Amino acid sequence: MLLPHPRTGEAFESPVPPGTGWPGDVAAPGTPVARTPDDVARLAASATSLDDLDRDSSVCRACPRLVAWREDVAVVKRRMFRDQPYWGRPAAGFGDPAAGLLIAGLAPAAHGANRTGRLFTGDRSGDWIFAALHRAGVANQATSVDAADGLRLAGVRMAAAVRCAPPDNKPLPSERDTCEPWLRRELELTAPTVRAVMALGAFGWGVVLTVARHLGWDVPRPAPRFGHGAVAPLTRPDGVVVHLVGCYHVSQQNTQTGRLTEAMLDEVLAHALALAAGRTG
Ligand code: SF4
Repeated sequence: MLLPHPRTGEAFESPVPPGTGWPGDVAAPGTPVARTPDDVARLAASATSLDDLDRDSSVCRACPRLVAWREDVAVVKRRMFRDQPYWGRPAAGFGDPAAGLLIAGLAPAAHGANRTGRLFTGDRSGDWIFAALHRAGVANQATSVDAADGLRLAGVRMAAAVRCAPPDNKPLPSERDTCEPWLRRELELTAPTVRAVMALGAFGWGVVLTVARHLGWDVPRPAPRFGHGAVAPLTRPDGVVVHLVGCYHVSQQNTQTGRLTEAMLDEVLAHALALAAGRTG
């Protein structure tokens, strides 16, 4: 059933077929589709730009359980969004292609990015992270409603460790591993500028450490442990240090219980931005 995009009014099926005009969709009907872990590794490695990476990862179908889940959610929907089309595809990276700071999240939310097609957009977690980015002066607006809302990030990019919405927000280890080459390539393609990675939660922290090892970066031993405000230096083969910064995830579980407050988020984000800019403050 075709339904209108909540901002543009253009009609879309759910899930959204590639290249049909969804805001920010860089894929086309002929974009190659990864259907196996080997396909993901091959296509990710062959991406020569972030646009390539966004395009190819946004049509990926390599994890059968997650593909079935994301597409089922896109059809069944949540009651309050039943008059909207759902993206129902992987959420690619988003933000400044020349970012100094990469924010690594866990995975898209079923009715957030899986609906809007843009990371952290249209859910409570996004309300928190984009408001914090706006307070820090690196987002042009504090809200993130849909992929055509005009949101722009300066010096910051975000990417998910797993690009498809998982049931209960819990990807399987095999799905985490299958998706890892997309994030690995994201870090390779942003290598000229990224100097800090802020991992939201222990899951993202662990995946970034795995990515770093796969890229041949020097990771401290024993492996640095995740914590809110924890910082670990990851040294690339060219000697450049990328600072991994831990931050409690902006999940409702954390923000509603007070485990993560705005002040705590602002403090760690400010530190991550300072490290990304080559300042230690
Ligand atoms: S989780 Fe990652 S590897 Fe698996 S289908 Fe989604 S984009 Fe592809």
